[in-house]
Amino acid sequence: MTKYLTFVLQLVLVVTYAQSNNELLIYNARIVQIETGVVEEGAILISGDKIKAVGSYNKLKRGVKPDRQVNAEGRYVIPGLWDMHIHLEGKDLVPDNKALLPVFLAYGITTVRDCASDLGEQVLQWRQEIADGELIGPTIYTAGRKLEGKNSIWKDDLEIENESELNEMLDLLDRYKVDFVKITENTLGGNLFLKSVKAAHERGYRVSGHVPYDLTIAELQAAGYTSVEHASYLLRLGSDEQQIKSDLTSGTITKAQAEEKYTGGFNQNLAIQKYKELGDAGLFVCPTLIGGRQLAYLDETNHKGDDFLNYLTDRFTSNYQWRIERMSNETPAQRQQRKDRYLLLRDQLPLIQQSGIRIIAGSDAAALNTYVYPAEALLQELAIFQEAGLTPLQILQNATLNGARYFDATDKTASIAKDHVADLVLLNENPLSDVGALRKIHSVVKFGRYFSREELDEMLRQARETKQQLDAQRK
Ligand SMILES: [Zn+2]
Repeated sequence: MTKYLTFVLQLVLVVTYAQSNNELLIYNARIVQIETGVVEEGAILISGDKIKAVGSYNKLKRGVKPDRQVNAEGRYVIPGLWDMHIHLEGKDLVPDNKALLPVFLAYGITTVRDCASDLGEQVLQWRQEIADGELIGPTIYTAGRKLEGKNSIWKDDLEIENESELNEMLDLLDRYKVDFVKITENTLGGNLFLKSVKAAHERGYRVSGHVPYDLTIAELQAAGYTSVEHASYLLRLGSDEQQIKSDLTSGTITKAQAEEKYTGGFNQNLAIQKYKELGDAGLFVCPTLIGGRQLAYLDETNHKGDDFLNYLTDRFTSNYQWRIERMSNETPAQRQQRKDRYLLLRDQLPLIQQSGIRIIAGSDAAALNTYVYPAEALLQELAIFQEAGLTPLQILQNATLNGARYFDATDKTASIAKDHVADLVLLNENPLSDVGALRKIHSVVKFGRYFSREELDEMLRQARETKQQLDAQRK
């Protein structure tokens, strides 16, 4: 009995020691309360991977070793950023993508939503390894692989032709334990598309994706669509969607003609009214504007000197070429139209924000998306949000809190509060006056682990080195 008691006591001591050793105190900080934008001066006590308390230094410092205390020297602390639309893709780009995972952290991005790819199973494995602390990178939410029709242009989609195949594929996604379901419209017709949304929704999934020409956004939303990927689809709300849809389904017009009708007329008042209806219904949208901007201004931009190319292997960026070549044949009028569309879309952002549609910030960074760089593109996206007229607080909320809202996880993550996951970014400048401050990173905390500026720089250096090694091996 005594032996047993001694053992228990020893165990308690060991556990207590491990915990106190595991504690981290960030003090002298300006803590940004992301729901309100209120800035509180104080300290954050972290234990393990969670925030244990937020309060005064004198109260929280007890028992925390001096070498586990970080003096923030008045710096701003925000929740880690969420990039709500990326693709870790390319079966021949596994080490390339893997080497970029720590780069997200170095950019202050502590969570990503992977919107499906041909690397689906690989991404599921990385999701687990990161969650288990075996791999350094952002928390991954993933759709695994996405639903499509037969012979879609994308690699490794889950191609379906009827409801029984749909159910088989949903069974597969159940086994994958995906975090949401993604559906696109390359070859998937409206009927089965809508059935897919309903079936995935009935299984309890959040459902996201593109918008086929033969469905309206309101129909998708009513069937259980959580989010529309790419705000460009929302421009359709400025036209008579219902009419164009029925003309298309009756065979009066082709898809190309439907697109012409959508680009030909845009009624701002009608769009605002529709935004409001979808906002009231609780729709999310992930705008992904940066990709469109990169393409719209390709003719006036020299990307050769882009610093981020130092992180991307030649094989990775070789995927950029097809789009560049395709676009080189565009006429001046087509180029101008592209710019006009981009600006129209950008200027919708404050209206979308006001309508109550919840914006989730995402870059669509992917090897197939020309000059949409992993990590870097999210900061560019947020700069566009600011250019469009969103306030820095709205932008920060869209890039943190709304991600957690999307996954119904606001009680666990994305704010600086007790029992929330300790994912934090310390900034040298005030992000509430200019989101450019997101580039002034002093340090990052991921799952309670502190990464100093030196460690972040070392992570970046290693990613550049891996790029060079992979390029050399492949020559
Ligand atoms: Zn995408």
